[in-house]
Amino acid sequence: MTVSLFERFRRNHAIEHAAMHQLGRLPQPLRLVARSDWDGFIMYGHVDTETLARATQAGLNALRSGQPGLAVHPRCGTNMAVHMLLAGAAYGIVSSASKRRRHGLLSMLTLPMIGAVAALGQPLSRAAQVHLFTSVDLEGARIVSIRRHMRNGMPIHRVYISHE
Ligand SMILES: [Zn+2]
Repeated sequence: MTVSLFERFRRNHAIEHAAMHQLGRLPQPLRLVARSDWDGFIMYGHVDTETLARATQAGLNALRSGQPGLAVHPRCGTNMAVHMLLAGAAYGIVSSASKRRRHGLLSMLTLPMIGAVAALGQPLSRAAQVHLFTSVDLEGARIVSIRRHMRNGMPIHRVYISHE
């Protein structure tokens, strides 16, 4: 079975989020940032390789055993992207309206509009994560290897995942 690059990214992204949820349950809080691609994901921050390996496997197992909610993470970078798109759209509407009609009713709507964007942002970015940026179709997913190296005193882990 061939899995497209985007589909691999979506699956790896789900596994990355599930691993982050597992790491978030550790007694001592870790400050970690992760980024997914079609090869797996990269984890930036102080975590030992063994802990990361266990969290990633536990996350994958949990996603497979009926906890698809773990594929969504509140601190995901795609949330920010969705918020920025919405804010840009709202700004575009307000500024083109106020150009046409200065001091009109629409310019008074700027603040409520920004409020609406903030309110819409959360459910929309969650929906985008669920339907666009992650996939829990993880039938053949397998953690192949994890490599660690240091950059400017910061551990960086490269997690390789295969989908067959
Ligand atoms: Zn994410």
